[in-house]
Amino acid sequence: MLRIGLTGGIGAGKSTVSAILAEHGAVIIDADKIAREVVAPGEPLLEELARTFGDQVIAADGGLDRPRLAAAAFADEEGTAALNGLMHPAIRTRTAEHFEENSDAEVVVHDVPLLVENAMTPAYHLNLLVDVPADLRLQRLMDARGMDRADAQARIARQAGDDERRAVCDVIIDNAGAVEDTQAAVSHLVSDRLLPFAENLRLQRRAERGGIELCDPAEADWSGEAARIIAKLRHGTDDRYDVEHIGSTAIPGLVAKDVIDLQMLVPDQAAADTLAPRLADLGYPGAAGVDHLGEGEHTAKRFHANTDPGRAVNLHVRTAGSASARFATEFVSLLSRDRGERDRYAELKRELAEKYAGEARTEGYADAKEPYFLMMRRALVPESFA
Ligand code: ADP
Repeated sequence: MLRIGLTGGIGAGKSTVSAILAEHGAVIIDADKIAREVVAPGEPLLEELARTFGDQVIAADGGLDRPRLAAAAFADEEGTAALNGLMHPAIRTRTAEHFEENSDAEVVVHDVPLLVENAMTPAYHLNLLVDVPADLRLQRLMDARGMDRADAQARIARQAGDDERRAVCDVIIDNAGAVEDTQAAVSHLVSDRLLPFAENLRLQRRAERGGIELCDPAEADWSGEAARIIAKLRHGTDDRYDVEHIGSTAIPGLVAKDVIDLQMLVPDQAAADTLAPRLADLGYPGAAGVDHLGEGEHTAKRFHANTDPGRAVNLHVRTAGSASARFATEFVSLLSRDRGERDRYAELKRELAEKYAGEARTEGYADAKEPYFLMMRRALVPESFA
């Protein structure tokens, strides 16, 4: 199951986009709806709220009287904490039940207004942001929903800012234009990325990759993307292992293939093997592999290539402290501080990319870089050649 987070500031058009996604077959789990469900008449949580905050929080019709609950709970910090302490676990449990009930679905979208505020993005394969500048959202809330300006402004101000959301979401759906444009963009997203991603995930098959075209670092956001991917990998492995951005995309200003390389550092290769199914579920099917150190030497690693056709990622699971792990770190560090070396490497890459441009596979290009890497390994991890 491909798990997707969907968010956007109030009035951005989240409901509009989730309806489009549903038309394309995605299952929608609506966080607002669940928050209402868990306090519906007959739910144990409703009685619990009455016990904690007084019977006046139950309205005459037996439902929750929200304004009264808010008055009682938000009066002080203790009340707020008590309310959260009751609501959050109930919502979490109910949400997990909804995911469980839909475990056969290809694509499940969790629609969460406060996805960013609650730091939930690392839990999904992909996070979609419905993006509309705050001033236009304000206008839409007044026009389409009849909210008054002060109320709408206050609600917007209580949420995360637009930049904060953009920094942690993977896909930005621009809904500042006509709804038809958004419909077209979402349709493309579904057919070009979400469905093949879900299928790859189900079949445990790596996504297709482009060739060896080198990209201009000024046009990419590799460090931002790496940070988002690392947050997901750490979250999905219980925050137990360091994950570093390595390779060319980690070196500021260096041309690179549009592939993000990461290394996860584990205590030994047995741990790497144990982690493999977990990484596969996160979208990183893998296999046992080796790192060549040169001169016939090699060390074991696991190599995982990802299932998302919209963003190529290589994940190398290496033993912490091994020569190959240290080399990867040192190489980034050297080329980040030494412009001359960075430019020499860039020149070599351009030459080889041109030479191997016609080839469908990238092995020839990768092999041709080996003599350079052997020289760098000798310089950076000399003790591994004892
Ligand atoms: P959210 O669920 O993110 O709070 P909604 O989906 O309810 O936002 O959208 C807010 C309002 O803006 C709704 O009344 C909706 O009909 C309207 N709206 C959504 N998308 C557009 C758009 N592209 N152009 C104009 N109005 C829109």
